[in-house]
Amino acid sequence: MARRKKIYEGKAKILYEGPEPGTIVQYFKDDATAYNAQKKAVIEGKGVLNNRLSEFFMTGLGQIGVPTHFIRRLNMREQLVRSVEIIPLEVIVRNYAAGTMSQRLGLEEGTQLPRPIVEYCYKDDSLGDPLVTEEHIAAFGWASQQDMDDILSLALRVNDFMSGLLLGVGIRLIDFKIEVGRVFEGDFQRLVIADEISPDSCRLWDIETGAKLDKDVFRRDLGNLADAYTEVATRLGVMPKNATPITKPTLIN
Ligand code: 5GP
Repeated sequence: MARRKKIYEGKAKILYEGPEPGTIVQYFKDDATAYNAQKKAVIEGKGVLNNRLSEFFMTGLGQIGVPTHFIRRLNMREQLVRSVEIIPLEVIVRNYAAGTMSQRLGLEEGTQLPRPIVEYCYKDDSLGDPLVTEEHIAAFGWASQQDMDDILSLALRVNDFMSGLLLGVGIRLIDFKIEVGRVFEGDFQRLVIADEISPDSCRLWDIETGAKLDKDVFRRDLGNLADAYTEVATRLGVMPKNATPITKPTLIN
């Protein structure tokens, strides 16, 4: 059998050419990185959990009419997605101050914001994904005004959906990052949520204890990352309560 073609390998995922034109296979690795890949580790089972959780969030978004790139999960570590042209922005939505916003503005982590705040970072690892304004985005032509209106509306819809879903299982959505891609249909383009939505790209705090259930567990050495992600997956019903812990790397087909 011919080896499938690798299109791109990132820090947490590998993209392979999909079986049909316009599709891509997204493979979730166990690799964890933080601080622009200065800190690295392999966390057994992380890829499996993120594959399942991203499937869960993207499917739910699709059901309420928020377009995403997700087509279907293929196996434990892979999902079939639509090929998109990624807009070179990280779109961050914050409900509570944390991370770089706390550092930048001197706000205590966990301070509730007056309303959700959307920020944009230019996607460039070599620059450390710098914060940019809509002025930069327009001037450098990364997205049009119409795109920005659509991106803001998508980001806030994702925020409402995710906040409600997580609140229902005792988790506070502090902030998250999404990526948006363009899909071309004839002469028209449509924007869809792309990449992944998982505890790698969100801050999730237990409502009762404030315990962190996201990648900060790895970034800040707070415990076992796979246990934290398993807790999120179990509460959301993505993993059965008595499932055997994912401790062995899973081979791809
Ligand atoms: P901060 O700007 O505070 O570091 O991050 C804000 C939110 O966006 C956090 O939920 C964080 O996990 C997410 N985020 C920011 N940059 C990245 C990134 O490069 N990769 C991932 N996976 N998430 C990011």
